[in-house]
Amino acid sequence: MKPTEILGINTICTHTGKIVDNQFKGAISPLYMSTSYAFTDVEMKRYPRYFNTPNQKALAIKIAALEHAEDALIFGSGMAAVSTSLLAFLHKGDHIVLQQTLYGGTFNLVVEEFKKFGIEYSFTKDLKKASFEEKIKKNTKVIYIETPSNPLMTITDIRMVVALAKEKGIVTMIDNTFASPVNQNPIDLGIDIVIHSATKYMGGHSDILAGAVAASSEHIEKIWQLAKNFGGSLSDYTVWLLERSMKTMGIRVKAQNRNAKRLAKYLENHKDIAKVYYPGLKSHSDYALAKTQMKGFGGMLSFELREGLDAQLFQKHLQLIKSSMSLAGLESTILSPFLTSHALLGAEEREKQGIKDGLLRFSVGIEEKKDLIADLEQALLKLDK
Ligand SMILES: *Cc1c(COP(=O)(O)O)cnc(C)c1O
Repeated sequence: MKPTEILGINTICTHTGKIVDNQFKGAISPLYMSTSYAFTDVEMKRYPRYFNTPNQKALAIKIAALEHAEDALIFGSGMAAVSTSLLAFLHKGDHIVLQQTLYGGTFNLVVEEFKKFGIEYSFTKDLKKASFEEKIKKNTKVIYIETPSNPLMTITDIRMVVALAKEKGIVTMIDNTFASPVNQNPIDLGIDIVIHSATKYMGGHSDILAGAVAASSEHIEKIWQLAKNFGGSLSDYTVWLLERSMKTMGIRVKAQNRNAKRLAKYLENHKDIAKVYYPGLKSHSDYALAKTQMKGFGGMLSFELREGLDAQLFQKHLQLIKSSMSLAGLESTILSPFLTSHALLGAEEREKQGIKDGLLRFSVGIEEKKDLIADLEQALLKLDK
């Protein structure tokens, strides 16, 4: 068999990291639920909180292969992955630069918790090079980005950030959740540490809460030192379910890419839609940049109804597409950032970030395009009356 780097994505999803069932020759990885393992010469201490059970180790191989990394760790949530990775590289007196538009949970972690650890932080004004540059200080140890970002699908120039950081010996971290490894492999562009909320595209069925980090063996070792003390590992049963889900990640996400692109075009041409934000549309301000670093444009988009149409009422009229907080499942979902994910930001900050009250964020599922379009069409028609 070829080394995993040259295997195609669907082959990695299906096969890489599988545990061979030598006892019964079953088709799938056996599930090892033990929390207690006899001592052996090879692995002295096998224990779920040490991230080294058979199922944890096997799935880490798949995730590392998908992100072109040497190693990976699987966590109990995306936020466990984010917090453990950040705190592994930041000590008292250190400073971090984070991009301005971030997942709400990450933003809260920084502003609510970092002070008590004595960690300094700065958020960039926007995503331009100068904004990152002006925030870097002598004690900056980490630059943290997220692209595409929520909810306007802005794109951060990964190569630009890597170049800035490399010059100064700063560690780079990216939240790659929205793209998934199917659409973006930041390690190929020089990023040090790639973080995922596996609750989203990796899980993909809205039934798993999990996180993952992929990086060099050296960086993973450093994160692991903290991870085993913080205790944010994922139960083996859920690890096993996540492996099952990830077998179809490639085909799911590619279907979501195709659906999202079609729907973005439909919405863009609709008289009742004022604006569509999708990095795969030529009209998106970051389209050219997205093309240089993404293999596909993802299943997330957002849009604004034209002036005078009620976004809340529109959501109520939708029948197939459900209003829901999470994203990246097989099923299409929609939400109002103003009322949910970005409610706590306040009107002024939302205005600054360009998030209008009528903005809707759409997580495109794998349903048939024509059915999704029909649902949007009937809901818009009802508003027009
Ligand atoms: C959901 C999400 C997270 C947090 O993940 P959890 O699994 O909910 O802890 C982090 N980043 C992004 C971009 C997310 O969408």
